[in-house]
Amino acid sequence: MDRMQTALALIDLDAGSVTTTHLESAQFPVEDLAIHRGEGIFETVLVSLEAATGAAHVHSAEPHFARFRQSAAMLDLPSPPRELFDAAVSAVIAEVAAGLDGTDTEFSVRYALSRGLDSHADPTAHRSAGTPRSARGWAFPIAVTNGQRAQRAHGVRIVTLNRGYDAYLGESAPWLLIGAKTLSYAVNQSAARHAISQGADEALFVSNDGIVLEGPTSNLVIRRGNALLTPDPRAGLLHGTTQQAVFAGATTAGMTVRYADLTIDDVVEADAAWLVSSVRTAVPVLEVDGKALVHDADSTARLHSWIRAA
Ligand code: PLP
Repeated sequence: MDRMQTALALIDLDAGSVTTTHLESAQFPVEDLAIHRGEGIFETVLVSLEAATGAAHVHSAEPHFARFRQSAAMLDLPSPPRELFDAAVSAVIAEVAAGLDGTDTEFSVRYALSRGLDSHADPTAHRSAGTPRSARGWAFPIAVTNGQRAQRAHGVRIVTLNRGYDAYLGESAPWLLIGAKTLSYAVNQSAARHAISQGADEALFVSNDGIVLEGPTSNLVIRRGNALLTPDPRAGLLHGTTQQAVFAGATTAGMTVRYADLTIDDVVEADAAWLVSSVRTAVPVLEVDGKALVHDADSTARLHSWIRAA
């Protein structure tokens, strides 16, 4: 199913309240800073419904919320109250689960926090319309598409694209917000479109000085013998919850795991490579810049099971 129930939970941080409505009827104020400045943060979590009982499991719920808090701190946003966001996510899950026919057992929920209204907005007028002036949050569901399921099984071809900064720049330039999961994704979206225009399925960002970073919405993991390696988040990328789940599973299975500075050649010469993220889970990389990689189906199955277990 590519369409999903349209439940929407709105979070008013000032009032400490969560109200549920529907995406079609939601009125998001155009003076909100998230809209014109991308001044907000978000997370997307994968939710699985247990077939027998219908019980919902939010995968990697803790690491997602920890990163949400960290992103808030990097943007000087108020620390998001856990209980309000949990209530919002639970309300969305309950509404979606009630509308599913039992054949669909997974979907994702996106939750977000905006800085709130721009300084030129009239807070009194907005308040009388029920809109909080300051930080506000929301949560809504997104279906897992058949295209995403096909990629998990069959893999993707990727092209490398220059991210435009040197590796580790974020350490000396915190205002760039490298490593925060902000709502400013126009560059990431553009890179994804550029990759498709080049005949590939996905992009892989590389730093100006040749260090592999991440995809526009994913992390890269490679296998080298009995070791899994991934780019160091400090090099200038988002520290992925899925990559962390993969490393935890691999460690338990006796593999070596390591954060490392990787080049494009390291990826091409790897024994296998995957793009990993919450909703795509693990997608095998079939080709990098036209060069074929090994498709290691057994390892892909192991990654899928470690991610499902998180
Ligand atoms: N890197 C970027 C830029 C992303 O947007 C995402 C997720 O959307 C990831 C990495 C993977 O993060 P996670 O595994 O927590 O979904």
